[in-house]
Order: sequence, then C-alpha cells, then structure tokens
Amino acid sequence: MNLYVHFPFCRVKCAYCALHSSAGSTPAARREYCVRIASEIAALQPCVFSTIYFGGGSPALCDLVPVFDAIRERGLASAETEFTVELHPLDVCHDVLDMLKRGGVNRISLGVQSLDDDTLKSMGRLHTASEAEAAFRFVRAAGFVNAGIDLIAGWPGTTDESWRSTMKRATALGLDHCSVYSLIREPKTRLDLAVRRGKVLLPSDDEALAQIDVAREVLADAGFSRYEISNYARPGRECRHNLAVWRGEDYIGIGEGAHGRVGLVRTESGVETTVTPEEDAVERAIFALRTSEGLSLERIARMWPILVPRIPAWRETLEFFKRQGLLQDAYRLTPRGTEVCDSILSDFLV
Ligand code: SF4
Repeated sequence: MNLYVHFPFCRVKCAYCALHSSAGSTPAARREYCVRIASEIAALQPCVFSTIYFGGGSPALCDLVPVFDAIRERGLASAETEFTVELHPLDVCHDVLDMLKRGGVNRISLGVQSLDDDTLKSMGRLHTASEAEAAFRFVRAAGFVNAGIDLIAGWPGTTDESWRSTMKRATALGLDHCSVYSLIREPKTRLDLAVRRGKVLLPSDDEALAQIDVAREVLADAGFSRYEISNYARPGRECRHNLAVWRGEDYIGIGEGAHGRVGLVRTESGVETTVTPEEDAVERAIFALRTSEGLSLERIARMWPILVPRIPAWRETLEFFKRQGLLQDAYRLTPRGTEVCDSILSDFLV
C-alpha cells in the first residue's frame, strides 16, 4: 500500500502550472491544514506503507511535524519505506532539511524546472539556476543519498544550446533521478493567456521532441536509464512510488486535490466514487505501457482475469502499433511510441 499527501500551498503560482495549488496562504491556514491532514492520517487503518509521497504545491511551506508525528505514532513507515518530499529550491535550508530527516524522509525531489536564468524568470520561478544548484548540493550535504530534480522541456524561447547546457549542468550535480516533463499548455495559466494574446510562441512539436532527445542522450551518457516516459534514474533509484501507481497498485490520497485508488474506490479531494471491477482492472493494467517494463498480456491475464476476454482484441491492437514502429517486443514503447503514448493508451480505455 502507498500513501500520497498533497500540500496545496505555493509562494507564487508559476506561469505554466495547473496543479492544485495556490499562492497567498497564511501561516494559520497552513497550520490548520496540517492538523487536519494529521488527523486523517491518525484515522488510517494500521499498515506499513511501502511508499509515502508528499507533493504539492510546496509541502515544506508547512510545519510538517504534526503530520510526521501522526505517521510515526500510527507506525505507518518503516526503514524500508521510500519516503519522498517535493521541495522548492527556496525551501532548502538547515531547519527544513532537519525537520524532514527527523520525520523519516529519505528521498528528495527538487523542483528545478530549468538551469537557465532567463527561462526561470519567464516561468515565474523565484530562484536562479545557481540557487537551484546550491539547493541540490545542500540537500546532498545534509545526507540525503536519494535525490533528484524535475525539469521542463519545450519552454518557449529555449535554444538548443541553453537546453543542452541545462541538461549538462543537471547531470553534473550527481543526481539519482531526473524527471523531464514536456511542457503542456494548460488552460487558464499565465502561459496559456500569453500564447492566446500572441505574446509567446510555443515551440513546434519537432523542436520540443528534439529537446527530449537531448535530455535522453545526456542522461544516458551520465548513466541514467529512461524507466518511464518522463523519468530517468540511475540503477536502483527509480521512484518506487510512481512505479507502484503505474503498476496498478493501491494508493491512498490525502489532502485537497489528492487522488487515491483503493480497491474499486477512487478518491479525489476526499470525494469517493466507485468504478466497476472491469473499469478498475483496465485502469490498473494499461499504464504499465508508460514504463520500460512495458505491457505484458500474460501478466494482465494472471493479475486481472476479468480482462481475459479482451486480450485477443488488445493483442491485435498492440500488434498494429508494433507494425507502425511504435511498440517493440511484447510490448514496450519505441522512442517514436513514447511521443504518442497517450493516444495509444486511449485505444485501451474505450
Ligand atoms: S510548479 Fe510547483 S511551485 Fe510552481 S505553482 Fe506549480 S506547484 Fe507551485
């Protein structure tokens, strides 16, 4: 079982971001939120989570001690639990890292997004490239042996040189993990508004994909393998939490905007809905296609017998994509397939 806890507070809203988070919260509101989260955690059924992930927003804007206390008192984490917290570079200071270590956190995901100052400025980030690098080094110096960063490819105006330089500077940090997300123009963000007003021109698909290729090449040279469309890791440093989600495991979601999946029940921001056993099985089975492990029809038949009648049709569809050069073996995405994974997946969701 896995646990995701969402903290929807940010210093400012970044230009591209449509995640459930907002700026301008008061310390009292954040305190109250954490007390509520702690009480929800204290009410969980006893278990030891395989992974715990605090995402946001910027979780470290909060005093997380009551939440950590609830986890400890309930015995929800062990030495084997992968316990990740997302950090903003400006969160990184001695007191915060000390709070995380005492709370049992053993993995840090630092939201860097770019290592080019002009890009960071136009993204609305509040830190420079060298501040982000210093933050990562500080995380390491504090003894976090498992740490990585997030980057965004395809930002308007990013030149090939500056993107390559971002990737090289990133790998020079000695990361364990690197997520490289393709920019998505999310509706109602500042980026979306600027594009609609003609103030910003998005890169073409080819230009954006060329940056993903550069990322893959630089990370491969540095010893990283791409274990999911947007995620690269050194051997053994894959994010176990995200892998659990893609492999179809259960996870509890706590907090505003958090999603959860336990049995047939789905939660979003605490609101429960129930899916049918077949819908449940499809959802759990197909997202393995995003990973380097790929989608195994034998595994699907073994784990979700309810899907056995669908397998001949799925095999036909998969073989069709294989002939198009989008899949290889039985069945993993080819580099071309990763570019259109979402549309391949949509064929299985109908
Ligand atoms: S990208 Fe991160 S820091 Fe920026 S608004 Fe979104 S959640 Fe907040």
